[in-house]
Parts: sequence; C-alpha cells; structure tokens
Amino acid sequence: MLKLQNVHTHYGAIQALNDVSVEVNKGEIVTLIGANGAGKTTLLMTVCGSPRASSGAITFEGHDITKEDTHTIMRRGIGISPEGRRVFPDLTVLENLHMGGFFLGKQEIEASIEHVYHLFPRLKERSNQRAGTMSGGEQQMLAIGRALMTRPRLLLLDEPTLGLAPLIIAQIFDIIRTIRDEGMTVFLVEQNANKALQIADRGYVLETGKVVLADTGANLLINDDVRKAYLGA
Ligand code: ATP
Repeated sequence: MLKLQNVHTHYGAIQALNDVSVEVNKGEIVTLIGANGAGKTTLLMTVCGSPRASSGAITFEGHDITKEDTHTIMRRGIGISPEGRRVFPDLTVLENLHMGGFFLGKQEIEASIEHVYHLFPRLKERSNQRAGTMSGGEQQMLAIGRALMTRPRLLLLDEPTLGLAPLIIAQIFDIIRTIRDEGMTVFLVEQNANKALQIADRGYVLETGKVVLADTGANLLINDDVRKAYLGA
C-alpha cells in the first residue's frame, strides 16, 4: 500500500533519512521505533511531502507521491496525527473535527463526525469544550479523531501515547486496534516500544536515519539488540 524505496531526506546540510526502504501492506499495523532524533518524525512527514524526499521514491496504492504536495497526498487517502497532537487549543472539539474534514462536503463531514464520536464517546461528551482545556489523553483522542475525519485508508500516528498515563495509553492502543479492525492500515511511530511492537504485525528499527532491523512485531520483541536498546532489558 505504502512503499518507500531508498529514500533520503535532508534539512539543509543535515541528512535525516539515509537510504530508507519501508513497506506498509494493506490491513497491517506497522510500528517504527528508534531513539530520539533517529528520524522517525521525518519519515512520517516525508510520506506527507513536507519535507520532500531529496532522492528515492514513495508510492501509495501504486501512485508515485514523491513529488506531490501535502494536500494532494492527504486527498489520496492518507491521514496523520502529528507529533505533539497540535490540536487548535482555542477551538472546540467539534470545530477541531471540522478543520480535519476541511475538504469534505457537508454530508461527509456529518458522517465522519458520527464515526469519530462512535469511536471516542468522550469526544462526543466534550463536543463544545475548548481543546486547550482538555487533558493530554483527550487531546490525543481529538488529534486521532481529526486525522480520521477524511476516512483515510492509511493512518500515520506520531507518538500517540507520549506523556500519557498508563490507563490512557492502554485505551489509545485499544483504539488503534479497533481502527485497524475496521479496515484501516496503520503506520505507528512510538517511543513506547514494548506496547507498540505487541500490537504490530511488523516493525522497523531506525537508527540515525537508517533502517537497521525489519521483522515481525513478535520477533522484534524477542530480538536481543531491540530488548537491550528499546525494551529496557
Ligand atoms: P524524536 O523522537 O525526538 O521526535 P525523531 O526520531 O522523530 O526524534 P526527527 O525529529 O525526525 O527524529 O529528527 C531527525 C534528525 O533531523 C534530528 O537530527 C533532528 O535534529 C533533525 N531535524 C528534524 N527536524 C529538523 C528541522 N526542521 N531542521 C533541521 N533539522 C531537523
């Protein structure tokens, strides 16, 4: 479904991705783990066209999206919940969701809001609350809900559990599973390597911009190098 082939990404003279090849197949949850600064966010953002890959190729459902702009890529069926949540703090929950569906028609927006409220009853209860006054977990649910507004076929999630309490983390992972079971494909970036590999069909390990390991989630969980570096073993 999503394929990165030999992708390099630079910020000026800094090379953030170095010859990255990654594949996400339809219906999978694929997890990307790596230390701070390894390039995980850059990888997701490169899929979205900002920054652009400086070389290599990215295809989504067979279309070459390497040189497309972000809006075109989103319209093709990719949604992203970015690092740091980035909800609009002064807008209500409902207004934030409307922003997520900016290129949809009125009826589609209504249907998407229904779908998001079904997945996140808490957001429905808080529909008129300003996002900035909600808890971290609620804001994360809103960020995911907003990304779901366009009914993407591929959902990119950047560190959805960062800084959240264990109970909320468990809820977020449950929701990720539910979203996948509804037929969506998920590409997940996580610091919480243990839980993120547990729900993953496959995973990749990124170190200083390079993919150093690729395997099933189950195999990565018992890999000695992964256990030492990312699972605190
Ligand atoms: P974290 O978990 O800390 O978010 P990450 O694995 O997501 O880390 P990136 O944020 O993708 O890593 O950063 C990869 C490298 O690119 C780092 O060396 C970082 O300093 C650099 N970098 C990221 N964004 C920019 C930018 N806008 N300008 C210049 N360098 C950047």
